[in-house]
Amino acid sequence: MRALSKRTTSFTDSVIRRMTRVSMEYDAVNLSQGFPDFDPPRAILDSLAAVAYDGPHQYAVTWGALNFCEALAQKQSPRMGHQIDPMTEVVVTCGSTEAMMAAMMTVCDPGDKVIVFSPFYENYGADTILSGAEPIYVPLTPPAFTFDAAVLEDAFRKGAKALVLCNPSNPTGKVFTPAELTVIAELAKKYDAYIITDEVYEHIVYAPHAHTYMASLPGMWERTISCSSLSKTYSITGWRLGYIIAAPQIVDAARKVHDFLTVGAPAPLMEAAVTGLCFGQDYYDALLQTYTQKRALFLDGLDRLRIPHTTPEGAYYVLLDISEYGYESDLEFCCALAKDVGVGAVPGSSFFREPENRYIRLHFAKTEETLNAALERLSRMKALLGKRR
Ligand code: GLN
Repeated sequence: MRALSKRTTSFTDSVIRRMTRVSMEYDAVNLSQGFPDFDPPRAILDSLAAVAYDGPHQYAVTWGALNFCEALAQKQSPRMGHQIDPMTEVVVTCGSTEAMMAAMMTVCDPGDKVIVFSPFYENYGADTILSGAEPIYVPLTPPAFTFDAAVLEDAFRKGAKALVLCNPSNPTGKVFTPAELTVIAELAKKYDAYIITDEVYEHIVYAPHAHTYMASLPGMWERTISCSSLSKTYSITGWRLGYIIAAPQIVDAARKVHDFLTVGAPAPLMEAAVTGLCFGQDYYDALLQTYTQKRALFLDGLDRLRIPHTTPEGAYYVLLDISEYGYESDLEFCCALAKDVGVGAVPGSSFFREPENRYIRLHFAKTEETLNAALERLSRMKALLGKRR
């Protein structure tokens, strides 16, 4: 048989999603793939129930139902500092995953260079390969995960056409400061590059940190492709509702990519989700309070167990330092953790470009009960010390 495409041989399946399957195999408390185990808001579920009988059940307009785009534009305009036109500046996609892929294909021709900070959410590697772009990795150096502006400028100087910005960052929990974003923005303007953002954790930013939208910085609306989703904000990761917000000439091109990739996001789910998009600020305040409590519970628990970890400024991921265990492969460590301790984690190496086997990633988007059960099991993590390989 002839070989399948080279494209598919140059990356593996998603390790994040693989670890969910490993967790299921060993009946582990799954803190690997980031998704909640609690229900979405009741009002959204009521709308979903009504939609079952009232519809719509057929295709929506390819780039998104008008009422969804209008509600989204109304919610995001004051936050992003731009009066978003729902008719020309929005594409509704199947999750932020499609938004990012469509953005990359909209901006890049094969061979174009794209800057990706490392560590990075693993999809970006595959996104560059599938769109034919060449990544240039710029390190975010632990423990503060800061970047060196000179190294970043070098990357732009190599002709990068775009930079991918995950803010708040998965897996580091870093929230980029306005000063850092300004450095990136000024370089993007100087070297005439686009910024593709991934802002799915925009509403999960812990005080005193605050989220700044790249698109809201001076001169950045024109060159920023803002990608985000409803998954994390409304606890509906399975609904696959995401979006691109950008200037009309970018959206025009992105809509074509989207149309032929997926035709459209699920019409009934868009309809039901409008209820969420119309929530007032109190909803987002309560969401943040919930995650602030979960973060405190989980990090306190890790401290009690004397497990070294990062402290996220945003999102809901924690990197645990496992260097003392002496494993050469963090993937093997995670498999042992799932099997022998009963907790699912993601090996840190799946986020780093650099050879790195020091971290594993856990998340705390779970009920208190689940988090306590995970902490109880993690108290036996030291048992892996004797089993170094
Ligand atoms: N963002 C989630 C994570 O990092 C997973 C998202 C996904 O699997 N599509 O775990």
